[in-house]
Amino acid sequence: MNDFLITQPQLASQKIQGRYVTHKSIDSFVKHFPFKTIGTSTKSHPIHSIDMGSGSVKVLIWSQMHGNESTATKALMDALCYLQQNPSFLAAFTLKVIPILNPDGAEAYTRVNANDVDLNRDAINQSQFESKLLVDVYKSFKPDYCFNLHDQRTIFGVNDNPCMLSFLSPAADETKKHTTARKKAMGVIGYIQNALQEHIPNQVGRYDDTFNQNCMGDFFTQQGTPTLLFEAGQVGEDYGRVETRKWYGFSILKAFECIALSLHMPSIYQDIPEVEKSFVDVLIKNITLDNIPIDIALQYVEVLKNEEIHFVPIVHKIGKLAGLNGHKIIDVTGKNISLSKALTVGTSAIELSELLNLTQYSH
Ligand SMILES: [Zn+2]
Repeated sequence: MNDFLITQPQLASQKIQGRYVTHKSIDSFVKHFPFKTIGTSTKSHPIHSIDMGSGSVKVLIWSQMHGNESTATKALMDALCYLQQNPSFLAAFTLKVIPILNPDGAEAYTRVNANDVDLNRDAINQSQFESKLLVDVYKSFKPDYCFNLHDQRTIFGVNDNPCMLSFLSPAADETKKHTTARKKAMGVIGYIQNALQEHIPNQVGRYDDTFNQNCMGDFFTQQGTPTLLFEAGQVGEDYGRVETRKWYGFSILKAFECIALSLHMPSIYQDIPEVEKSFVDVLIKNITLDNIPIDIALQYVEVLKNEEIHFVPIVHKIGKLAGLNGHKIIDVTGKNISLSKALTVGTSAIELSELLNLTQYSH
């Protein structure tokens, strides 16, 4: 079943496209599944859980606890579609899935919730309704595994490649010792990595495992539950993250396959390279400004407009930027660029990007 997602292009979830995904966009999709409203957000939007299967292994999955991290939710929808169409695959599991834990952040396209709180730094305080809800569900459901689904920024690379997917088995304490729970999570991630290397070699990374008890993954691992952090990353100019979504959904299904068949590969986890902050969105090399040759790095700020996300370039770094990599690299050696305003870090790079005919992305 290696290529199950690729052979299933007609998944109903493919109707959910673009980077702006809210509880409204997935509402009709959620209704195809057995679902419950388990709470309402700070701004009174419903928070749903989808409950599937009646097998012995309980898995709690949540996505969009950071409201602007929608690739994870779309990949999750793809995986749920596959499970619904292939019930034998689901036989081992009882799933509780919260597709959008932070509907207010999803609507506003922010990482934080309506009170400006990062829910993934609120595991101990549980100061927010949404974080308390997740911990309450965890306590009552008593999962055997947790899947904590996120998107990462465009800055991450692995060796010299962009990082399409990254994973972490979070630490259970400051010593980072390999507890039973951690080893199980590492084994599942190792299995996923083994499968991904056939398809997206050298584009998978491992997150830093410094312990932070305020993060949900660390907190649940500390309670003894194997927890997997999944992160969707940026590759090239795929700002819709369409390719990433495909392999993210594949990874979720591979996790189920590993657990159902007890195929854990912890040693492979150790060999996954750590992610590095080595990429920018656009790297312009050898630009001559005021007769001085320099490099300029641009980063996109994601702006919500008319239910679409627009990628607005800003100046991120100026100087000799050796060692930095770009999802797009332009060498403008010999071109004289004349701008109406001097470029400084943090300012708009729209004029420069228009002069260089850079694509204006919106998804
Ligand atoms: Zn996140």
